[in-house]
Amino acid sequence: MVKFIFITGGVLSSVGKGIMTSSIGKMLQSRGYTVSTVKIDPYVNVDAGTMNPYMHGEVFVTDDGGETDLDLGHYERFLDINLPKFNNITTGQVYASVIEKERKGEYLGQCVQIIPHITDEIKNRIKSAAKMAGSDVLLVEIGGTVGDIEGLPFLEAARQLRLEEAFNDTLFVHVALVPILNSTREQKSKPCQHSVQEMRRIGIQPDIIVARCKDPLEVDVKRKISLFGSVPYDAVFTSYDVDCIYQVPLNLDKQGMGEYVTKRLGLNGRKADWSDWASVVDAFNKNVKTVKIAMCGKYTKLADSYVSIMESIHHSAGKIGAKVEMEWIETTKFEDNPSEVKILEDYQGIIVLPGFGSRGTEGKIKAINYARENNIPFLGICYGFQLATVEYARNVLGFTNANTTECDPSTPYPVIDLLPEQRAIGSMGGTMRLGAYKIALKPGSLASKLYGKNEAYERHRHRYEINPKYWKELEMAGLEFSGWSADLKRVEFLELPSHPFFLGTQSHPEFRSRPGKPSPPYFGFIKASAKLA
Ligand code: GLN
Repeated sequence: MVKFIFITGGVLSSVGKGIMTSSIGKMLQSRGYTVSTVKIDPYVNVDAGTMNPYMHGEVFVTDDGGETDLDLGHYERFLDINLPKFNNITTGQVYASVIEKERKGEYLGQCVQIIPHITDEIKNRIKSAAKMAGSDVLLVEIGGTVGDIEGLPFLEAARQLRLEEAFNDTLFVHVALVPILNSTREQKSKPCQHSVQEMRRIGIQPDIIVARCKDPLEVDVKRKISLFGSVPYDAVFTSYDVDCIYQVPLNLDKQGMGEYVTKRLGLNGRKADWSDWASVVDAFNKNVKTVKIAMCGKYTKLADSYVSIMESIHHSAGKIGAKVEMEWIETTKFEDNPSEVKILEDYQGIIVLPGFGSRGTEGKIKAINYARENNIPFLGICYGFQLATVEYARNVLGFTNANTTECDPSTPYPVIDLLPEQRAIGSMGGTMRLGAYKIALKPGSLASKLYGKNEAYERHRHRYEINPKYWKELEMAGLEFSGWSADLKRVEFLELPSHPFFLGTQSHPEFRSRPGKPSPPYFGFIKASAKLA
């Protein structure tokens, strides 16, 4: 029988529930239990795919082509699991399926209501996710903050599940901010107390309270939270600030959280084995060398827009014991002032990030040109790969005004063009080329050396590709196409053999990178940037 752990958040959003959910999962895994995770997003969008990364952070892509919340990325990285898109439940999905059933007449004669129909649908989805995973424990993170109107049906469904399941089979963990006042340096527990009260008003008494605080909780503050939150003193933990997020499960387990959780769930007292995880985390703290990377893109004001890419870089640097400094560069500034591109000489590596639309693309092309001509290691991801092709067509082949038709539909040289199957597509949600596909790598190429084989399996999210009409000319001019889709219909990797490290990929290898097992293209890029390869 599966056990359910619900993770809720209080006081404000971005309190670290995703890392907390992942960390609880890790504490269970370290004791030999299998886990899976579900993220509930109470917004009305069916999925995260149509949202601006500025608002909601990165759109994470699953193997099966889901465009999901970025927390699924945290779960996959911490727990080394691949989740199906079904494990990101939204209000949009729940209502869409209830309304579809209503139209089919499945509720004939009934008045269809939030309770029980919407809440039943939510419970069924949670149980189906548990069944599909077949794990010992399913962790369910309820997004947003307790008290949000749109979160209420999900909390109500969780409340009902607690009633329906055996006492030992459900557990509620509430994560809330404990701020420290600048003036007095005091840790303030009141907001946390209030958010627990809000939980109780909804009918849920948390079993565990985790304070999210800059520093470990002081004994008095912990006592207060225990008293007013109505949980035992031993059930209050602190998730305090750390340099490396992968340290969090170790810190919580040290406070006794893993033991408390397993006991409360009636799981037998297995001992935790942290040896593998601790050695991965240790490597992150070595910092024998610093590498400075230029992150060229357009959503650079919110680091969460590229969280999987940042983590892939961390995984890569961690593996070689290096420290990376990632600096965000809005490429529009190279458009306003082309000589600004010279600032790139201060970086050991240049990444051109994924993206959509034309803002900043001319600046990205300038950055790629600089990397290519000055032999600075370059990695182009998705849009970065496409724009590297545009740069090559313009500046090596002399195709004046070559472009992607995404930016210039009437370019004389459409070297990047819509995928043929995209031409008939009108609606925007879930219609890109999505999910993981096999990639055939050219034997002997940089790409095949990085993967250590002639095959890769990476996730995708795009509508455009290198136009087959220009394959020959580009290759003749020295751009090597080193990775192809299995049907050889589209280019997946490009490289420049004459350059120290110049690699682009149509795919998003960052979505499959893990701590201790960095994604090969990122690892190769960081090694080249650190001059270790
Ligand atoms: N805009 C490009 C496309 O749709 C690239 C997408 C991306 O970088 N994810 O193909």
